Amino acid sequence: MSGDIDRKGLAPRFWDRKPLNKLSDKEWEALCDGCGKCCLNKLEDEETGEVALTRVACRLLDDATCLCSQYEIRHQFVPECIVLRPSNIEKNLYWMPETCAYKLLWNKQPLPEWHPLVSGRADSVHEAGISMQGRTVSEFDIADEDWEDHIIEEPI
Ligand code: SF4
Ligand code: SF4
Repeated sequence: MSGDIDRKGLAPRFWDRKPLNKLSDKEWEALCDGCGKCCLNKLEDEETGEVALTRVACRLLDDATCLCSQYEIRHQFVPECIVLRPSNIEKNLYWMPETCAYKLLWNKQPLPEWHPLVSGRADSVHEAGISMQGRTVSEFDIADEDWEDHIIEEPI
């Protein structure tokens, strides 16, 4: 979800010591592991409410870095992009990826060892095979009616 993620100068394991609604903006943004999965298009079953992730990515997702290519001004291009906050996590949980750090912490689960805040390295999320690096197709290239051919299992 984030642009370049600044994880420098943060207190050790701040996420274990503060509730989500007490984090600074910088701490909040640093929680994002950079997996890119929240930038995938989803399919929702109208009858069951079930949500499936597809590998069809938002037009602004950079497949190589898994970051938003226009994070600061993204709403000019993608007005529906959600600004996740402690106040709106709960109503978004149903579609959030199982490995998403915000969802894990909301559910009182620990951050995994591949999370960049734990490993100290941004690449660990890619090396662990958690991110969408090199695995997406652009929504420009796939017609809406074909998205169901690109459903992925979660967690990956
Ligand atoms: S799914 Fe969560 S951790 Fe992954 S990029 Fe989106 S906000 Fe960040
Ligand atoms: S605009 Fe697209 S790529 Fe950027 S954060 Fe939102 S969903 Fe992700």
